[in-house]
Amino acid sequence: MIFLVDFPLGGLAKWLRFCGFDATLMRLAPDKPGSWPPPRPQTHILTRQVACQRLKRPDLLILAAPDPEGQLAEVMQRLRLSARHLKPLSRCSHCNDPLVSLSRDLVQGRVPEHVFLHHRRFYECPRCHRVYWPGSHIQGITGALRDQLEQLGDRGVAPRNNRP
Ligand SMILES: [Zn+2]
Repeated sequence: MIFLVDFPLGGLAKWLRFCGFDATLMRLAPDKPGSWPPPRPQTHILTRQVACQRLKRPDLLILAAPDPEGQLAEVMQRLRLSARHLKPLSRCSHCNDPLVSLSRDLVQGRVPEHVFLHHRRFYECPRCHRVYWPGSHIQGITGALRDQLEQLGDRGVAPRNNRP
C-alpha cells in the first residue's frame, strides 16, 4: 500500500514508514487540482485539509486527528488495516527507502555497546546509512497500535545518524 501524505503531516509519514508502508510527502493544494497526481491502484492520499473534499477523489482520506499517532490509528481504522498488514523494520523512517539486512560484524562501533551485545538482527538504510534494530522503535506509539506491533515481535530503534 502506498501513501501520498500532505506536507504538514510529516509525523504521520514517519509513523507509516515505521510500520513498513511506502509514504511520500507532497504539497497538496485544494485549489490546484491539476497539480495532483492521477489516482493509482493501492494508493491513498492523506490530508487534514477539509477543503480537499470538493475534489471528490475516491483515493483521498481527510483525517481529523491532530496528532500523528491519532492520525495513524485513523488511517488503520478507515482502511481496515491490522497487524498483519504491518512490516516494522522494513523501511527507513526518514528516507522511505527499504532497509537491507546488515551483518552483525559491520555494526560494531556504529551502535551503542549494549545494543550490539543484546541484539542479533540489524538493518541499514542504503541511502542515509542509519542503523535499525528491534528495540524501542514504538515507544512513541500508543494504545492498540503498540499492541499490534508488539505482537509482531519487531520493535526497531531508529538511532541518530551513525555514518561509518
Ligand atoms: Zn534513510
